[in-house]
Amino acid sequence: MKIRTLRSCGILANGNLVRKFTSKIDRRSNDECWNWPKPKGKDGYGFFRIGSKVFVAHRVSWELFNGPIPEGRLILHKCDNKWCVNPRHLYLGTHSDNMKDKARIPLRFVMRRKLEKYRKRFGKH
Ligand SMILES: [Zn+2]
Repeated sequence: MKIRTLRSCGILANGNLVRKFTSKIDRRSNDECWNWPKPKGKDGYGFFRIGSKVFVAHRVSWELFNGPIPEGRLILHKCDNKWCVNPRHLYLGTHSDNMKDKARIPLRFVMRRKLEKYRKRFGKH
């Protein structure tokens, strides 16, 4: 079993965690969205609880399938579906990508602001 430390989430990616994560999703083909069922936060993002900590589901997905998220980078959706946790639909973005994204979809701006508040309350994800 391959175990690696998820630095940005501070969790261990192991077989159990991957199984726990994937058991929650409606896992379809690689081209389709893997929608996170519940619980969803008020802002519509999926949340994944590990022990006493809660993580944003699509960031957990990135780390489980692609490895640690570099410090300060964002995980953005290619498919514009914020429930989607298909690692192939996610990409590593910067704050300027995020600004472009916000400009394109104003509603996302509101959602990300709420997410930032959530992060402040529950620590760094
Ligand atoms: Zn998707």
